[in-house]
Amino acid sequence: MKIGVLALQGAFREHEQVLGSLGARYTEVRQPEDLHGCDGLVLPGGETTTQRKLAQTYGLWEPMEKLGRQGMPILATCAGLILLAKRIDEEPGSSMDLLDIDVRRNAYGRQVFSFETPLTVPCLDGVHDPADSFRAIFIRAPRITRVGPAVTVLASHKEDPVAVEQGNILGLCFHPELTPDTRFHIYFLEKVRNREASRPGRGTAAGIRVTAGHGS
Ligand code: GLN
Repeated sequence: MKIGVLALQGAFREHEQVLGSLGARYTEVRQPEDLHGCDGLVLPGGETTTQRKLAQTYGLWEPMEKLGRQGMPILATCAGLILLAKRIDEEPGSSMDLLDIDVRRNAYGRQVFSFETPLTVPCLDGVHDPADSFRAIFIRAPRITRVGPAVTVLASHKEDPVAVEQGNILGLCFHPELTPDTRFHIYFLEKVRNREASRPGRGTAAGIRVTAGHGS
């Protein structure tokens, strides 16, 4: 199993550190060839406009979109989530439309209004205990303004959905790579393993669970 981490701009190194700590093999993606042999993709947070321009310039936009449509598991955080949305409210037609959500960029305000908040995330192990909530860091975060019928909301902050899932795509408005809690990455790696196991000629042990602790 190999995870491609889009490494054009933004917080890609932090994702790599988490993947490495979980024993997952990863490769940095900067050109289309780097996608060969990848079983999953991480789109990091950063600056949406810069990432889109660089991805288009280096010929990565279409191949990534195609892989997403073919069911490749994708973990998209913050700017990554914006790039996958059906529609960016202030810039329609500039996203991949792989995730049936609409988003508004920087909707919680500027950098100084970045915040941390505990989230209850029932799909992650052990979160039924409030002490096990996920500490989410929001940095110039997007707001999800519409969620389509095929999208499952995994966590909300106040009334806003902030963690969503559609098939193999996991989209987060916050930065799980900046906290020691690795549960979202583990959840994503499970999707990659399950897809691998269900493909013809691959392993048969569908649903293998990775077990790893998470920091406090
Ligand atoms: N504000 C950024 C944008 O819209 C996204 C923020 C982030 O990725 N932390 O491009």
